[in-house]
Amino acid sequence: MSATFQPLTQRSRVVSDKKMTFLERIYLPAILKGMSITLKHFFFVKKVSLRYPEVEKPRSAIYRGHHVLKRDDQGRERCTACGLCAVACPAEAITMIAGERKKGEESVYREEKYATVYEINMLRCIFCGDCEDACPKEAIFLTDRIVEADYLRKPFVFGKNELVEPMEKSKRIDVSKRQTPDVLKFKEQRQYSHNR
Ligand code: SF4
Ligand code: SF4
Repeated sequence: MSATFQPLTQRSRVVSDKKMTFLERIYLPAILKGMSITLKHFFFVKKVSLRYPEVEKPRSAIYRGHHVLKRDDQGRERCTACGLCAVACPAEAITMIAGERKKGEESVYREEKYATVYEINMLRCIFCGDCEDACPKEAIFLTDRIVEADYLRKPFVFGKNELVEPMEKSKRIDVSKRQTPDVLKFKEQRQYSHNR
């Protein structure tokens, strides 16, 4: 009894073993055909690739990239090392060590407890934004900055040096695009409001 052939996909082809013609055997027509397609794309078809990093693709204003740890208006670090971002992180990318603020450090750290060490492993991060949502101090935000490529793993563990924004007001990282009027209105509700 002969089995009936059932193709698994629409793309299946019956292989032909017919003898090749002279032109097929010298491959020249096939090579010329291939070259003509390549030249057509080179000269006439709009290029879809960019010369990165010289040219960057435009990104959305609310693109979720490189995190920033924010300072308040007085330049004090907002993070209080509560650990909620680390608990919320599905990739377990965030680690921190909490420290107690000492007398005289009130102008550096906003709260009595702060992160002496704060690290995000960018190789683990999936840029979901859950850390930003979980933060009760408006301390961590994702920004439209790209995490740059590297050949080693170690540089992808970002510490406070890479994450905390500069003290100078002119160099602060703007996160207003992530704080749209709708978001701010939502936060005005007492039961949902963040500790600003
Ligand atoms: S963006 Fe998501 S994956 Fe990345 S550190 Fe924040 S919570 Fe974790
Ligand atoms: S970034 Fe926010 S959620 Fe994370 S430890 Fe600091 S204060 Fe807590």
